[in-house]
Amino acid sequence: MSDTLQISEIPVDGYERVVRGVDPASGLHAIVAVHDTTLGPALGGLRMWNYGSEEEALFDVKRLSKGMTYKSAVAHTGLGGGKAVILGDAKTIKSEALYLAVGRLVDSLDGLYTTAEDVNTTIADLNIVRRATKYVSGLAREDGGSGNPSPYTAYGVFLGVRAALGQAYDNDDPNGRTIAIQGVGAVGGALAERLAKAGAKVFAADRDRDRLEALQKEFGIVPVAEDEILTMECDLLAPCALGGVLNDETIPALRTKVVAGAANNVLLKSEHGAMLRDRGILYAPDYVINAGGIINVSVEFHEGGYDEAAALRKIERIPQALKELWTIAHEEGIPTSEAADHLAERILAEGRARKG
Ligand code: NAD
Repeated sequence: MSDTLQISEIPVDGYERVVRGVDPASGLHAIVAVHDTTLGPALGGLRMWNYGSEEEALFDVKRLSKGMTYKSAVAHTGLGGGKAVILGDAKTIKSEALYLAVGRLVDSLDGLYTTAEDVNTTIADLNIVRRATKYVSGLAREDGGSGNPSPYTAYGVFLGVRAALGQAYDNDDPNGRTIAIQGVGAVGGALAERLAKAGAKVFAADRDRDRLEALQKEFGIVPVAEDEILTMECDLLAPCALGGVLNDETIPALRTKVVAGAANNVLLKSEHGAMLRDRGILYAPDYVINAGGIINVSVEFHEGGYDEAAALRKIERIPQALKELWTIAHEEGIPTSEAADHLAERILAEGRARKG
């Protein structure tokens, strides 16, 4: 079968490379955005989404790849930021031929971008992609990868929660603290377990009643209704489900002094960072506190390959990164979310200066 994959460049200001891959034989229509490789090759997941148009997909892949650059910069992963999106309905368009074409598209970038799991992409899908390119990360341990990132994300969030408690209450011990967790899935569930074991009083909400009940039985987690979790009185709120949950409606109703959780893009808009600050609520920026997973994957790129101890050592630096940016926020009089962006930009500028 002849290769029908057509690759074309999409020039985008401020992005190193953006390429479109269209393969009529398999129905692939994808975009890969390499935002910045100053600090290393770009790493970011492969998302499949039923976008309304290519313009919408381009907007998303640009936003996500830039986010990866910033996240990796602050986490010192030694990697840059990139992302790939496939346009289409995950229920109908998935096929072996499509993922092989994705692999050829990724391979055409010669290592500038390495792909990984993301929304609607499974390890099984990545195992097909890797037949066409070696630039795939986050595979199972038995396949030489770093495995499921969620427990590492949860560990980093747990350490970040402790740091946030220390910052807000001068005592980082979760023992006796009331913590509300929205979403006890892969990350939130592991966080709930760690916090309960550390003596915290953990309250949680989740769509999945069975999961909540299991956590209640095993660790004494107290189930709370979905519409009450964000606004219950607590020492710390950990959003671990959806993005955009901190917004004009919820922020005025919060009854906590600290927000620190795993959910990505938890602020609906950047100005909501300032709203939190104005209410005197300490915020641990999402992409800093939830970097444990990307840190774990990034260790695959180390000489000698994946090494869990090295990953854990790096994850244990998350509290330090948070403290650094809380200091920046205080000194510059800016919201902590903005301080995170400033820190990332500073690290990138230093990287560019080193490269000359
Ligand atoms: P998950 O799908 O395993 O868990 C999400 C949980 O939230 C599910 O149990 C779901 O039932 C629940 N949920 C959905 N809507 C809800 C609602 N309205 N109220 C209460 N619960 C609700 O996902 P995850 O991997 O645990 O990720 C959680 C968040 O952390 C996501 O925002 C994700 O982007 C972010 N994150 C995850 C990782 C990782 O390593 N998995 C890394 C970085 C960031």
